[in-house]
Amino acid sequence: MKNLNNGSIKLAIQKNGRLTESTLGLLKSAGLEFENYKKQLFSSCWNFPLNIVYLRDDDIPDYVASGAVDLGIVGENIIIEQRNDVTMQLKLGFGYCSLCLAVPKESPITSSSELNNKKIATSYPQSTKRYLNEKGIEGEIVKINGSVEIAPSLAMADAVIDLVSSGSTLALNDLRVIEKIFDSQAVLIKSNTVSKVKNNIVKKLLIRISGVLAAQNYKYVMMNAPESILKTIQKIVPGLKSPTVSSLSTKGWISIQTVIKEDVFWETIEKLKEVGATGILVLPVEKLIL
Ligand code: ATP
Ligand code: ZN
Repeated sequence: MKNLNNGSIKLAIQKNGRLTESTLGLLKSAGLEFENYKKQLFSSCWNFPLNIVYLRDDDIPDYVASGAVDLGIVGENIIIEQRNDVTMQLKLGFGYCSLCLAVPKESPITSSSELNNKKIATSYPQSTKRYLNEKGIEGEIVKINGSVEIAPSLAMADAVIDLVSSGSTLALNDLRVIEKIFDSQAVLIKSNTVSKVKNNIVKKLLIRISGVLAAQNYKYVMMNAPESILKTIQKIVPGLKSPTVSSLSTKGWISIQTVIKEDVFWETIEKLKEVGATGILVLPVEKLIL
């Protein structure tokens, strides 16, 4: 077997699950080149000193906490559950879900205050225990691994505490959400025992990944406009700094290049059209180093 302790840093990611595809996509967008095929235990990048280790998601925080790997990508939900001694570095913008309290559709229960002496099925016993404590509820926690949503129909529980993203799995099993406990998304975590030398490599990797994440929030926009409305346009798109302005062959007309934040994209485009910008061309931003 290849030696993984060769000075490269190690990053643990989920071997096969909901986070795997987006995680691999993010790493590839960050310019990392590696081979990855199913059943593999690890991959080495050939253009960056990084080894990628494939693990079950629940095991990742312990590997990171112990220093067996330097970094990990995992759902915040697992860190909240396990409370491992690791440092959260970046929120990654995928794997969105919420830990929710749900009951069967026909259940008379409408709020958590009615859970006293009830059975609650969950794969998140610690988060559930803390939640019940905070609410001052004495419930019985039934720990199950996987397919928690089926427990009520098997009369194993009166309620479940489980992860929900679209809600379709819950609806499919005739459950209804009555309370949200917390939101979660995939995060990059770092070991607290990373050596100085490796930390320099970690920093470089974080800059690359941040560059991809920042770019996802922006669009690159080019447009033509009469010179007379430049000031108005600058007010609508403050951009990262001042926009690039060049003159066009048609007298009195200019071309403007700038970036627009994704979350205000459509309203900004509408305003630009209103004030007289034309030929608006929008391009995705591949990377943005701030
Ligand atoms: P593993 O085999 O690695 O233990 P798993 O079955 O425990 O996998 P997945 O179901 O693949 O885990 O979920 C991985 C992560 O995806 C979750 O911990 C959570 O952060 C995120 N996630 C996003 N949406 C959902 C959802 N609807 N249900 C469960 N997890 C979700
Ligand atoms: Zn798991």
